[in-house]
Order: sequence, then C-alpha cells, then structure tokens
Amino acid sequence: MLRKTGLYVMLGVIAVFIALHLGFPPEQHGARVTGTTMLGGIAFLLMTFAVILSTRLSVLEDMFGGLDRMYQVHRVAGVFTALTALVHFFGVPKELPVGADSVADPVVNALLPSMPLGMLGLIFLVIGLFMALNRKIRYSRWRPTHKVMGLVYVMIIGHFMTAPAIFFERFSASGLLLVAAAGIGVVALGYSLFGMNKRTAVPFTIEAVNHLERATELVLAPDGAMLDFKPGQFAFVEIQGEGWSEPHPFTLSSAPGEQKLRFTMKVLGDWTRKVREELKTGGKVLVRGPYGRFDATQAGKKQIWLAGGIGLTPFLSKIRAMKQGDARDIHLVYAAREASEAIFLEELKDRASAFGNVTLVPLFSEEGNFARVDMMKQKLPDALDTYDFFMCGPKPMVDGIMGDLKKEGVPRARIHTEAFEFR
Ligand SMILES: Cc1cc2nc3c(=O)[nH]c(=O)nc-3n(C[C@H](O)[C@H](O)[C@H](O)COP(=O)(O)OP(=O)(O)OC[C@H]3O[C@@H](n4cnc5c(N)ncnc54)[C@H](O)[C@@H]3O)c2cc1C
Repeated sequence: MLRKTGLYVMLGVIAVFIALHLGFPPEQHGARVTGTTMLGGIAFLLMTFAVILSTRLSVLEDMFGGLDRMYQVHRVAGVFTALTALVHFFGVPKELPVGADSVADPVVNALLPSMPLGMLGLIFLVIGLFMALNRKIRYSRWRPTHKVMGLVYVMIIGHFMTAPAIFFERFSASGLLLVAAAGIGVVALGYSLFGMNKRTAVPFTIEAVNHLERATELVLAPDGAMLDFKPGQFAFVEIQGEGWSEPHPFTLSSAPGEQKLRFTMKVLGDWTRKVREELKTGGKVLVRGPYGRFDATQAGKKQIWLAGGIGLTPFLSKIRAMKQGDARDIHLVYAAREASEAIFLEELKDRASAFGNVTLVPLFSEEGNFARVDMMKQKLPDALDTYDFFMCGPKPMVDGIMGDLKKEGVPRARIHTEAFEFR
C-alpha cells in the first residue's frame, strides 16, 4: 500500500528548513548567497533522508509502504541531491564578499577544507548519479561502489561545517536544523555501515531445488524456528558457501503456517542461473526478513490481482494462505507469454475452483491477449473505482495499467503495487 506519511515528513522538514532559512537569514547574506546556500541545505537534507532510508527500519516501512518503496524514494532523493548540489555549486559565489566575516582574509580562507571537500563530494555525487542511472552496470558491481556514498555524506558535513560563516552560520535557525540532521544522519549511517540494518538471519536447509519453466523453486526446511511473515512479503536470501555473493531479495511464495519456506526465482542473471545450475539439497541458507507491505487483507472486499510473469509470487503466497469462507471477491489476472511459461497455473485453477470467490483469468500475449483496463471495464460486474487493484509484474505493464486506471478515475489509494527492483 502506498503510504505517504514518509513523503509528507520529508517535504515538511524541507519546508521548515526553507522557512527558517528565508525567515531568519544569517547576517550578511545577500540574495544570491541566501538562495544558493538554501539549495545546498536542501541537497544535504535530501542526502540525509537517503541515508536514513537505508537503515531499513520497520517503522520507516510503515511510513513509506514497504522496503521496495523506501529504496525508490532513496533513489529519487539521491538523484535530486546531486542535481540540487550542482545548482548550489554553480550558483554560490566562489569569493568571499568584501567586508564579510573574520575569515575574509584570502589566505585563511584558502586553508579552510570547505571548498575541496565540497568539490570532491560533488564529483562523487555526480559519478554516483551516473552509476545509479546506468542500468548497464551490474547490480553486483554497483552495490559495493555505492557504499562510498557514506564517505561522501561525511565529506559534505565537513564541507558546510568548515564553511565561512557568510555561507553557513551554525547558530542560525536553519543552521541548527542542518546540524541536527547531520547528527541523525551520522547515527543512521553507522547503523547501516556496521550491518545493524539487517534483520535477524533465520537458518534453513535446502530440501529441494525444483526446475520450473524459466524459473527455479527453492524449498527450504527450517533448522530451528520458522520465519514469521505475511503473504506478499519478501526476504533476503543468503546462500552459505564459497562463491555465493551478496543476499538477493525474493518474495516468499509459500503461505505462512506451511512447514517449508518456498521461493520461486526467475532465471535472470548470474546469481539466479547459479541457483538453478549449482544449488544442491542439504546446503545451508540464511533468510533475512520479512520485509514489504504488499498486504491485500486490509483492503476492500472487491479486489483485482494483476500478476505479470514472475510477478505471480506474492499472489501465490496470498492464494496459498487463503481459507475457505474468505469474504473477498477476487479476480486474479495472470499475464504470461504463453501457457507453458505460466508456472503453477494448474494449482491456481484448482485453488480458484475450490474457493469459489476467486476468478482466475489467464492471459497469454502469444495469443494476443494482454492485461488491459478497457477489457476489465467491459467484463467486471461493477465500476472500476469500486475495486482495489494489486499489481506485480514488469514495470512497463504496471506503469501502463496504473496510468489507464487513473484515467478511469480509480483513486491512487486503491492501486497497490510491488516493485521487483530497488535500484
Ligand atoms: C522486493 C523484491 C521481491 C522480489 N521477488 C522476486 C521473486 O519472487 N521472484 C523472482 O524471480 N525475482 C524476484 N525479485 C527480483 C530478484 O531479486 C532479481 O531478479 C535477482 O536478484 C536477480 O539476480 P541475478 O544476479 O540473477 O540477475 P542480475 O541480472 O544480476 O540482476 C537483475 C536485476 O535484479 C536486481 N538485483 C540483482 N541483484 C540484486 C540484489 N542483490 N539485491 C537487490 N536487487 C538485485 C537488480 O535490479 C538487477 O538489475 C524481487 C526483487 C525485489 C526487490
């Protein structure tokens, strides 16, 4: 569910900063210095939000509607940090105005680390922006380099804390807010960098590695207590042993309460291929989670579940968790390329006919059938805006349907999506 509280808090803090900066400007600020230092402050606040979001705290998941969405906001905040910092850099006067404060002396000014720290920070920010937007750089290569941003954050703090007072007045109203943000940001950074942001690892033993059409099902038996989760949530899978790189996020496709944990993984790149080709039963796996807030139990009684390809996994968990007598009226639209790629189709048919409240609509693009809002409008018994929509699938499909639903007047609050990527 899209929760906007987090976004409102972010915008609120920025608004307060702007109000303080413009309302109580530090002495000697001319219009140019006021405007460009304000942009510098906004860039720093955005970066602080990005740092705080990487703590993965559960309370933040509640405020933003899940970890996937937190990472999306983290990414957007990072992009705007770099853009705002660039405008700040080009706009801010490079020389101290005549008659400025005690460090107007050019020699003293040249000794201040503020300028080189700012320049270096900006260069790293721009490189980081380029790397984040360049999808050709593999996630596994990008992830370790991204950790440098922690150092960049500290550099930026050094940049403004050592700036001459004409540019940054620590004891001004807006200056105090930035100092407080820096304190919170540094604590958040330490929390993430020292691995405290990882949820407890639950140990499992691999019981089966099932080869499906273009996907692999991993069946795990708990070594101790079972992971506690809700249908639609995901977890990080950390395979133990030589040669297994960083943890990867996957939706739990089994239902809570089952004896075994199941993940269904589409073969996409090196890691998922290795899982399919090399993983053996008896191996050890740590599962960290659960994360995510793709919860259909709190929504209205009439629901449309739209799954595109491997985007079926959260719905698999939901339908596997369903009990007889479920009062919801659910239409599960399962879009795949062709019937052979529609994994678990037979199980879905069986469950749908057993429950009676689930209408299964398989659509195969090879046969010219796509998930389309105009078709839904024709075929559904009630008006579109009376349903809650849950979507998980390829981004173009989700974005397209979301746009069409909005055009049809479906409120955004009734459209719930799960993204299968963080970056
Ligand atoms: C919340 C969430 C739930 C997901 N659930 C499922 C699922 O149920 N089934 C499924 O098949 N896929 C799921 N995915 C996608 C899955 O994580 C990636 O397909 C997988 O990590 C690809 O790894 P790779 O090395 O084989 O492929 P690559 O080609 O290296 O990566 C493909 C893409 O996967 C993402 N990715 C790769 N490695 C990581 C990582 N360590 N952490 C985060 N993202 C990474 C990146 O966006 C990358 O561009 C989910 C992703 C997210 C974020």
